[in-house]
Amino acid sequence: MKSKIVIIGAGNVGTTLAFSIIHQGLCNELVMIDLNREKVLGEVIDLQHANVFMDRKIAIKSGSYEDCAGADIVVITACAPMNPEADNRLGMLEESKNIMKAIIPAVMENGFDGIMLLVSNPVDVMSYYAWKLSGLPKERVIGSGTVLDTARLTCLLSHLFDINAKSIDINVICEHGDTEAVVWSTATIGGKRLEKVMKDNVDRVCDISYEQMRKDTIDAGWKIFHRKGNTSYGIAASVSSIIKSIVFDEDRIYPVSVYLDDIYGLKDVYLSLPAVINKSGVREIVKLNLSEEELQGLTVSYRVLRGS
Ligand code: NAD
Repeated sequence: MKSKIVIIGAGNVGTTLAFSIIHQGLCNELVMIDLNREKVLGEVIDLQHANVFMDRKIAIKSGSYEDCAGADIVVITACAPMNPEADNRLGMLEESKNIMKAIIPAVMENGFDGIMLLVSNPVDVMSYYAWKLSGLPKERVIGSGTVLDTARLTCLLSHLFDINAKSIDINVICEHGDTEAVVWSTATIGGKRLEKVMKDNVDRVCDISYEQMRKDTIDAGWKIFHRKGNTSYGIAASVSSIIKSIVFDEDRIYPVSVYLDDIYGLKDVYLSLPAVINKSGVREIVKLNLSEEELQGLTVSYRVLRGS
């Protein structure tokens, strides 16, 4: 498997993602681009040294937008410096839009024709914006969406029931942000409905409500951010899993930010929903049998994101 990945934004997320990618041998060529040329060069040399210990020899370099030609995947993690007091991703909207206006045309002018992965926040809006600016087919512009939120909730449930996270099947959907919703109705642990697991384990669950778990999932990112100034490992692992499904054509399902073209009656927006990911990008969106309440949650996010 040969593949070339370009990461734009060599900050905390971009560099942790690069480390995750080379550790898993997900490409044979990795290019990093950042406005801060000294920093990106330092990161690249450090990564080259790390690659000495890894199974796959990867050509890692600090590059320019010309390197987007022939790239299979371009990942965008660039952002303006974050306000340490921030507690809302939509607050980053205007600055992020301006950064996209600078980056996306430069990527496309160099003949990029692969899959674009958005990580910069607010990620659902940035995915829509990148899709519009790039002119790429909707299947090939994907946001990391609620993959990380789903991991955070899975981690919480894994601790609550002392069960390996891989045996938990749940989806956080809608916005990667305050209006995110959990699809409780289809969630299972080892094939058993979560609702039944909750009822059968009152000694473990105590008085934790579904709404409290949703709120804890939303707050998890801010809890990390306000302590260490960024979040990096969880998002890097989330994005490298998406990348793995693309480069190995895995057809795995992740709740990514995708273009909605009349699904659940919603259209012309990027929202996070489970989707099958393979070498062509989004193969299809998985339509769930959502409850009335879950459908209302989707509508709330839709209104917020359409208004952004
Ligand atoms: P950071 O400040 O450490 O890094 C941002 C990098 O972008 C900097 O190195 C900066 O020089 C670079 N940059 C800025 N403008 C650029 C441009 N025009 N061209 C090229 N490079 C440019 O930030 P971070 O902690 O790495 O976070 C990056 C983004 O990822 C943020 O938007 C953050 O909110 C987002 N994030 C998303 C998720 C998610 O689940 N989607 C999770 C964590 C972080």
